[in-house]
Amino acid sequence: MKRIIGEYRSRTEGPVLIVTAGIHGNEPAGIVALENVFAQLKHQKPAVTGALIGVLGNLSAIKAGRRFIDQDLNRMFKVGALDALRKQTKSKLKSVEEREQLDLLRLFETGILRRYEGHELFMLDLHTTSSEGGSFTIAADKPKSVEIARKLGVTVIVGMENVIHGTTLDYFNQLNGTGIGFEAGQHEEKASIDRMEAVIWVKMVELGIIKEEWVPKLEEHRSMLCSLRKSAPAVVRFSYRHAVQPEDRFQMLPGFKNFDPIVAGQKLATSRLGDITSPVDGLMLMPLYQPQGSDGFFIVQSVEQTC
Ligand SMILES: [Zn+2]
Repeated sequence: MKRIIGEYRSRTEGPVLIVTAGIHGNEPAGIVALENVFAQLKHQKPAVTGALIGVLGNLSAIKAGRRFIDQDLNRMFKVGALDALRKQTKSKLKSVEEREQLDLLRLFETGILRRYEGHELFMLDLHTTSSEGGSFTIAADKPKSVEIARKLGVTVIVGMENVIHGTTLDYFNQLNGTGIGFEAGQHEEKASIDRMEAVIWVKMVELGIIKEEWVPKLEEHRSMLCSLRKSAPAVVRFSYRHAVQPEDRFQMLPGFKNFDPIVAGQKLATSRLGDITSPVDGLMLMPLYQPQGSDGFFIVQSVEQTC
Protein backbone atom coordinates (compact mmCIF):
# COMPACT_ATOMS: atom_id res chain seq x y z
CA MET A 1 0.00 0.00 0.00
CA LYS A 2 1.42 3.34 -1.08
CA ARG A 3 1.20 6.38 1.18
CA ILE A 4 0.59 8.74 -1.75
CA ILE A 5 -2.53 7.30 -3.37
CA GLY A 6 -2.53 9.84 -6.21
CA GLU A 7 -1.03 13.13 -7.34
CA TYR A 8 -2.52 15.12 -10.20
CA ARG A 9 -0.78 18.40 -10.98
CA SER A 10 -0.13 21.11 -13.47
CA ARG A 11 3.25 22.60 -14.29
CA THR A 12 2.13 26.03 -13.20
CA GLU A 13 1.69 27.75 -9.87
CA GLY A 14 -1.60 27.30 -8.07
CA PRO A 15 -3.25 26.02 -4.92
CA VAL A 16 -2.49 22.52 -3.69
CA LEU A 17 -5.27 20.46 -2.08
CA ILE A 18 -3.92 17.63 0.05
CA VAL A 19 -6.62 15.11 0.96
CA THR A 20 -5.84 12.68 3.78
CA ALA A 21 -7.76 9.43 4.30
CA GLY A 22 -7.31 6.50 6.67
CA ILE A 23 -5.85 8.53 9.54
CA HIS A 24 -8.11 6.06 11.37
CA GLY A 25 -7.63 2.59 9.91
CA ASN A 26 -11.27 1.48 10.23
CA GLU A 27 -12.49 4.31 7.96
CA PRO A 28 -11.87 3.04 4.40
CA ALA A 29 -14.52 5.25 2.72
CA GLY A 30 -12.03 8.09 2.18
CA ILE A 31 -9.57 5.78 0.45
CA VAL A 32 -12.25 4.56 -1.98
CA ALA A 33 -13.40 8.16 -2.60
CA LEU A 34 -9.83 9.22 -3.47
CA GLU A 35 -9.34 6.20 -5.74
CA ASN A 36 -12.55 7.12 -7.60
CA VAL A 37 -11.57 10.79 -7.99
CA PHE A 38 -8.06 9.96 -9.27
CA ALA A 39 -9.51 7.33 -11.65
CA GLN A 40 -11.80 9.99 -13.13
CA LEU A 41 -8.96 12.52 -13.44
CA LYS A 42 -6.80 9.91 -15.15
CA HIS A 43 -9.60 9.11 -17.56
CA GLN A 44 -10.58 12.73 -18.39
CA LYS A 45 -7.12 14.30 -18.18
CA PRO A 46 -8.41 17.82 -17.46
CA ALA A 47 -6.06 20.80 -17.34
CA VAL A 48 -5.64 21.90 -13.73
CA THR A 49 -4.05 24.82 -11.90
CA GLY A 50 -2.09 23.62 -8.89
CA ALA A 51 -2.51 20.06 -7.66
CA LEU A 52 -4.57 17.43 -5.90
CA ILE A 53 -2.63 14.99 -3.70
CA GLY A 54 -4.15 12.01 -1.88
CA VAL A 55 -2.30 10.80 1.22
CA LEU A 56 -3.06 7.71 3.32
CA GLY A 57 -2.64 8.13 7.08
CA ASN A 58 -2.19 5.03 9.23
CA LEU A 59 -1.12 2.26 6.82
CA SER A 60 -0.70 -0.37 9.56
CA ALA A 61 -4.15 0.27 11.00
CA ILE A 62 -5.72 0.34 7.50
CA LYS A 63 -4.25 -3.12 6.83
CA ALA A 64 -5.59 -4.36 10.16
CA GLY A 65 -9.00 -2.64 9.71
CA ARG A 66 -8.67 -1.05 13.15
CA ARG A 67 -8.97 2.57 14.30
CA PHE A 68 -5.35 2.32 15.50
CA ILE A 69 -2.83 -0.25 16.72
CA ASP A 70 -1.11 1.39 19.74
CA GLN A 71 -2.25 5.02 19.81
CA ASP A 72 -4.82 7.24 18.10
CA LEU A 73 -2.78 8.91 15.33
CA ASN A 74 -5.27 11.80 15.21
CA ARG A 75 -4.31 12.90 18.73
CA MET A 76 -0.52 12.77 18.33
CA PHE A 77 0.28 15.96 16.37
CA LYS A 78 1.17 18.15 19.35
CA VAL A 79 3.97 20.66 18.70
CA GLY A 80 6.32 19.47 21.50
CA ALA A 81 5.83 15.79 20.64
CA LEU A 82 6.57 16.44 16.96
CA ASP A 83 9.83 18.24 17.71
CA ALA A 84 10.99 15.22 19.77
CA LEU A 85 9.80 12.76 17.12
CA ARG A 86 11.67 14.48 14.27
CA LYS A 87 14.97 13.68 16.06
CA GLN A 88 14.16 9.97 16.38
CA THR A 89 15.31 7.01 14.31
CA LYS A 90 12.30 5.15 12.95
CA SER A 91 13.56 1.65 13.82
CA LYS A 92 13.94 2.65 17.49
CA LEU A 93 10.33 3.80 17.88
CA LYS A 94 8.19 1.33 19.84
CA SER A 95 4.70 2.56 18.93
CA VAL A 96 3.35 1.62 15.50
CA GLU A 97 1.70 5.04 15.21
CA GLU A 98 4.93 6.89 16.05
CA ARG A 99 6.55 5.15 13.07
CA GLU A 100 3.55 6.03 10.88
CA GLN A 101 3.68 9.60 12.09
CA LEU A 102 7.41 9.97 11.41
CA ASP A 103 6.81 8.75 7.84
CA LEU A 104 4.03 11.31 7.45
CA LEU A 105 6.17 14.16 8.81
CA ARG A 106 8.94 13.28 6.36
CA LEU A 107 6.50 12.99 3.48
CA PHE A 108 5.06 16.43 4.22
CA GLU A 109 8.14 18.30 5.32
CA THR A 110 10.82 16.98 3.00
CA GLY A 111 8.54 15.85 0.17
CA ILE A 112 5.35 17.78 -0.49
CA LEU A 113 6.36 21.10 1.10
CA ARG A 114 9.58 21.25 -0.92
CA ARG A 115 7.97 20.13 -4.15
CA TYR A 116 5.27 22.80 -3.81
CA GLU A 117 7.26 25.58 -2.21
CA GLY A 118 5.48 28.92 -2.69
CA HIS A 119 2.09 27.32 -3.42
CA GLU A 120 -0.86 27.92 -1.13
CA LEU A 121 -1.67 24.70 0.75
CA PHE A 122 -5.15 23.44 1.63
CA MET A 123 -5.95 20.25 3.46
CA LEU A 124 -9.05 18.12 3.68
CA ASP A 125 -9.00 15.32 6.25
CA LEU A 126 -11.62 12.62 5.56
CA HIS A 127 -13.30 10.63 8.34
CA THR A 128 -16.37 8.54 9.14
CA THR A 129 -18.01 7.87 12.50
CA SER A 130 -19.42 4.89 14.39
CA SER A 131 -22.71 6.72 15.06
CA GLU A 132 -25.52 7.59 12.67
CA GLY A 133 -27.14 10.78 11.55
CA GLY A 134 -25.13 13.61 10.23
CA SER A 135 -22.27 14.70 8.07
CA PHE A 136 -20.33 17.79 9.08
CA THR A 137 -17.11 19.70 8.64
CA ILE A 138 -14.69 20.53 11.42
CA ALA A 139 -12.93 23.86 11.05
CA ALA A 140 -9.47 24.52 12.44
CA ASP A 141 -8.79 27.48 14.72
CA LYS A 142 -8.37 29.92 11.83
CA PRO A 143 -10.91 32.30 10.19
CA LYS A 144 -9.99 31.10 6.70
CA SER A 145 -10.64 27.50 7.70
CA VAL A 146 -14.12 28.43 8.98
CA GLU A 147 -14.83 30.37 5.78
CA ILE A 148 -13.83 27.43 3.59
CA ALA A 149 -15.80 24.94 5.69
CA ARG A 150 -18.97 27.08 5.52
CA LYS A 151 -18.93 27.11 1.73
CA LEU A 152 -19.69 23.38 1.64
CA GLY A 153 -23.16 24.02 3.09
CA VAL A 154 -23.01 21.26 5.73
CA THR A 155 -22.92 21.96 9.48
CA VAL A 156 -19.59 23.48 10.54
CA ILE A 157 -18.14 22.66 13.95
CA VAL A 158 -15.85 25.26 15.46
CA GLY A 159 -13.90 25.40 18.73
CA MET A 160 -12.17 22.03 18.33
CA GLU A 161 -9.12 23.53 20.05
CA ASN A 162 -11.18 23.65 23.29
CA VAL A 163 -11.70 19.89 23.45
CA ILE A 164 -9.17 17.96 21.31
CA HIS A 165 -5.47 18.53 20.73
CA GLY A 166 -2.94 16.96 18.43
CA THR A 167 -5.18 16.36 15.42
CA THR A 168 -4.00 16.44 11.82
CA LEU A 169 -5.76 19.82 11.53
CA ASP A 170 -3.49 21.18 14.27
CA TYR A 171 -0.54 19.93 12.24
CA PHE A 172 -1.77 21.55 9.01
CA ASN A 173 -2.04 24.83 10.93
CA GLN A 174 1.60 24.43 11.97
CA LEU A 175 2.53 23.97 8.31
CA ASN A 176 0.77 27.26 7.51
CA GLY A 177 -1.85 25.47 5.48
CA THR A 178 -5.60 25.88 5.76
CA GLY A 179 -7.25 22.65 6.81
CA ILE A 180 -10.74 21.35 7.38
CA GLY A 181 -11.98 17.93 8.45
CA PHE A 182 -14.99 16.23 6.89
CA GLU A 183 -17.02 13.60 8.73
CA ALA A 184 -19.01 11.95 5.96
CA GLY A 185 -21.35 9.63 7.87
CA GLN A 186 -21.23 6.12 9.27
CA HIS A 187 -18.25 3.84 8.51
CA GLU A 188 -20.22 1.26 6.50
CA GLU A 189 -22.58 3.62 4.67
CA LYS A 190 -21.99 3.56 0.91
CA ALA A 191 -23.24 7.17 0.82
CA SER A 192 -20.21 8.23 2.92
CA ILE A 193 -18.02 7.57 -0.15
CA ASP A 194 -20.32 9.64 -2.42
CA ARG A 195 -20.32 12.54 0.04
CA MET A 196 -16.53 12.50 0.25
CA GLU A 197 -16.18 12.49 -3.54
CA ALA A 198 -18.61 15.41 -3.71
CA VAL A 199 -16.59 17.39 -1.16
CA ILE A 200 -13.32 16.76 -3.05
CA TRP A 201 -14.78 17.92 -6.40
CA VAL A 202 -16.55 20.95 -4.93
CA LYS A 203 -13.39 22.01 -3.06
CA MET A 204 -11.26 21.65 -6.18
CA VAL A 205 -13.64 23.89 -8.11
CA GLU A 206 -13.86 26.46 -5.31
CA LEU A 207 -10.09 26.65 -4.96
CA GLY A 208 -9.75 27.14 -8.73
CA ILE A 209 -7.77 23.93 -9.22
CA ILE A 210 -10.23 22.55 -11.77
CA LYS A 211 -12.73 24.33 -14.03
CA GLU A 212 -16.45 23.65 -13.49
CA GLU A 213 -16.90 22.14 -16.96
CA TRP A 214 -14.64 19.24 -16.02
CA VAL A 215 -16.94 18.23 -13.16
CA PRO A 216 -20.17 17.09 -14.90
CA LYS A 217 -21.99 16.26 -11.67
CA LEU A 218 -21.00 19.48 -9.88
CA GLU A 219 -24.54 20.75 -9.28
CA GLU A 220 -25.63 17.30 -8.12
CA HIS A 221 -22.67 17.25 -5.69
CA ARG A 222 -23.50 20.72 -4.38
CA SER A 223 -27.20 20.09 -3.83
CA MET A 224 -26.50 16.71 -2.22
CA LEU A 225 -24.13 18.38 0.29
CA CYS A 226 -26.68 21.14 0.99
CA SER A 227 -29.38 18.55 1.66
CA LEU A 228 -27.25 16.83 4.33
CA ARG A 229 -27.75 19.49 6.98
CA LYS A 230 -31.50 18.89 7.28
CA SER A 231 -32.59 20.56 10.54
CA ALA A 232 -29.09 20.70 12.10
CA PRO A 233 -27.66 24.18 12.77
CA ALA A 234 -25.32 25.87 10.28
CA VAL A 235 -22.57 26.38 12.86
CA VAL A 236 -22.04 24.70 16.24
CA ARG A 237 -19.28 25.01 18.82
CA PHE A 238 -17.66 22.20 20.81
CA SER A 239 -18.43 22.76 24.49
CA TYR A 240 -17.77 19.43 26.22
CA ARG A 241 -15.82 16.23 25.62
CA HIS A 242 -16.23 13.07 27.69
CA ALA A 243 -12.79 11.45 27.72
CA VAL A 244 -12.61 7.65 27.87
CA GLN A 245 -9.86 5.28 29.04
CA PRO A 246 -9.94 1.59 27.99
CA GLU A 247 -10.28 0.49 31.65
CA ASP A 248 -13.43 2.64 32.08
CA ARG A 249 -15.62 -0.02 30.38
CA PHE A 250 -17.48 2.90 28.77
CA GLN A 251 -20.83 1.98 27.26
CA MET A 252 -22.87 4.58 25.38
CA LEU A 253 -26.62 4.12 25.81
CA PRO A 254 -28.05 2.92 22.47
CA GLY A 255 -29.83 5.13 19.95
CA PHE A 256 -28.01 8.47 20.12
CA LYS A 257 -27.39 10.21 16.80
CA ASN A 258 -25.40 13.28 15.86
CA PHE A 259 -27.22 16.54 16.72
CA ASP A 260 -29.80 14.89 19.02
CA PRO A 261 -30.85 17.50 21.65
CA ILE A 262 -29.48 16.75 25.15
CA VAL A 263 -30.40 18.30 28.50
CA ALA A 264 -28.15 18.76 31.53
CA GLY A 265 -28.40 15.76 33.87
CA GLN A 266 -29.60 13.39 31.13
CA LYS A 267 -28.11 9.88 31.39
CA LEU A 268 -25.99 9.22 28.30
CA ALA A 269 -23.70 6.30 29.11
CA THR A 270 -22.43 3.98 31.82
CA SER A 271 -18.94 3.00 33.00
CA ARG A 272 -17.43 0.95 35.82
CA LEU A 273 -17.89 4.07 38.00
CA GLY A 274 -21.64 4.29 37.34
CA ASP A 275 -23.93 6.45 35.24
CA ILE A 276 -22.55 9.22 33.03
CA THR A 277 -24.82 12.24 32.64
CA SER A 278 -24.49 15.37 30.55
CA PRO A 279 -23.11 18.39 32.44
CA VAL A 280 -24.77 20.84 30.01
CA ASP A 281 -27.69 21.36 27.64
CA GLY A 282 -26.72 21.06 23.98
CA LEU A 283 -26.56 18.69 21.04
CA MET A 284 -24.98 15.24 20.93
CA LEU A 285 -21.97 14.76 18.67
CA MET A 286 -20.01 11.63 17.77
CA PRO A 287 -21.31 9.20 20.43
CA LEU A 288 -18.88 6.26 20.61
CA TYR A 289 -20.35 2.98 19.34
CA GLN A 290 -17.08 1.14 18.61
CA PRO A 291 -14.59 -0.52 20.97
CA GLN A 292 -11.62 1.77 20.23
CA GLY A 293 -11.57 5.53 20.82
CA SER A 294 -10.73 8.03 23.53
CA ASP A 295 -13.77 10.30 23.06
CA GLY A 296 -16.98 8.91 24.60
CA PHE A 297 -19.09 11.73 23.17
CA PHE A 298 -19.05 15.46 22.62
CA ILE A 299 -21.70 18.06 23.42
CA VAL A 300 -21.93 21.01 21.05
CA GLN A 301 -23.86 24.29 21.22
CA SER A 302 -25.72 25.83 18.32
CA VAL A 303 -24.11 29.12 17.26
CA GLU A 304 -26.06 29.87 14.12
CA GLN A 305 -29.28 28.34 12.84
CA THR A 306 -29.27 29.57 9.26
CA CYS A 307 -26.68 29.69 6.49
ZN1 LIG B 1 -11.75 9.23 12.09
